[in-house]
Amino acid sequence: MFVDKATIQVKAGDGGNGAVTFHREKYVAAGGPDGGDGGKGGDVVFLADDGLNTLVDFRYRRKFSAGNGEPGGQKRCFGKNGRDEIIKVPRGTLIFDNETGRLMADMSGDEPFVAAKGGRGGWGNSHFATPTRQVPRFAKPGVPGQALELRLELKLLADVGLVGFPNVGKSSLLSVVSAAKPEIANYHFTTLSPVLGVVRVAKGVSFVMADIPGVIEGASEGVGLGHEFLRHIDRCRLLVHVVDVSGSEGRDPLEDLAVINRELEAFSPELASRPMLIAGNKCDLTDQETVDAFAAAVQEMGYEFFPMMAAIAHGTDELVKRCAELLQKLPPILRYEPEPPALPDAYAARDHSFTVSSRDGVYFVEGEWLLRILQSVNMDDYESLQYFQRVLQSSGIIDALVDAGVSEGDTVCIYDFEFDFVP
Ligand code: GDP
Ligand code: MG
Repeated sequence: MFVDKATIQVKAGDGGNGAVTFHREKYVAAGGPDGGDGGKGGDVVFLADDGLNTLVDFRYRRKFSAGNGEPGGQKRCFGKNGRDEIIKVPRGTLIFDNETGRLMADMSGDEPFVAAKGGRGGWGNSHFATPTRQVPRFAKPGVPGQALELRLELKLLADVGLVGFPNVGKSSLLSVVSAAKPEIANYHFTTLSPVLGVVRVAKGVSFVMADIPGVIEGASEGVGLGHEFLRHIDRCRLLVHVVDVSGSEGRDPLEDLAVINRELEAFSPELASRPMLIAGNKCDLTDQETVDAFAAAVQEMGYEFFPMMAAIAHGTDELVKRCAELLQKLPPILRYEPEPPALPDAYAARDHSFTVSSRDGVYFVEGEWLLRILQSVNMDDYESLQYFQRVLQSSGIIDALVDAGVSEGDTVCIYDFEFDFVP
């Protein structure tokens, strides 16, 4: 079964808690704090895999989680980091944040993509020792890992996309020009999932051709199967429109051409404007004059025409050579640019409660909504930092800290974000 969309839940690992321990040695009284830091939670990482060409696996498994970091130990021992969760997807998979609809990544390349970051481990109490605070009896808890709902959408990567009515010979064409073995049969909709084939033109010259199920009238409005698959030719650099010139099923080939082109146009005007060659198939079922008349008509419209008999690989070499020639000059396969995350809407959450507590001169602020903001802002970025400061002001956190007795230079911890208080 071909599945090209899926919604999954991912959860990165939580950071391990820092440890509160004290050095112990025989005959040494009251050793210093030696609690180690917790380990970092594992990330949820995506990787493109050429061995996959559908998202069907995600029908059976929708939840993915990375390992949690282990707590810190005695003697400044770091907790072990959590295991990363690696999710393999077919090349060309787009990853969206399902909550906001934001495109996070286009898995077309080989770079891994970290979709959810593991939480940082908390500091052990050994970090909090100062000359005036020699016995810190606290450590920091680990930060929870990010949890997200993701929408995956597969947009295959191919240089050339075959379009045309069902049964015109698209699969036959692919099967004779590549090693791919698409289903060929004399009835409509034999091809239920796109098939990719590598077409070798000459030594070192090849391209990828995609046979997608027949586009039919109404496909762009969701009629039949075609609509589901139009998406897969979205990235193709060149289209080959296969037409049954013999009209063996009682349709008029020129009308066929117009119908499919209208569908493409309705689905995406951009796609419809992609360069297109016309392959007139089943020439054996009609006479030369009919083929010539069709050729003249489409050339009049500005198309290049290639007569063929796909079933016996007649005329297919010429078509393939021309494709290779054109591809050399066409822009590379479309990559979608991921959208940068918007600064989170601090007040989208319903609950803005937080707690302020202090231990030995260190102030801790906690709140579920704050955590979410922290996970999505980058504190190395000036604008983000400014934004976060405004949130601290407007949510009353600064006032609450002052009420709790914070003074200049005191350390304030908001999960893994730490700063010295400046009034
Ligand atoms: P698709 O639905 O467009 O993929 O079409 P297929 O490749 O499955 O072909 C549909 C039918 O047309 C099959 O029975 C093929 O054997 C037949 N066919 C393909 N090419 C030719 C051809 O050049 N001449 C004739 N007579 N039949 C062909
Ligand atoms: Mg087919």
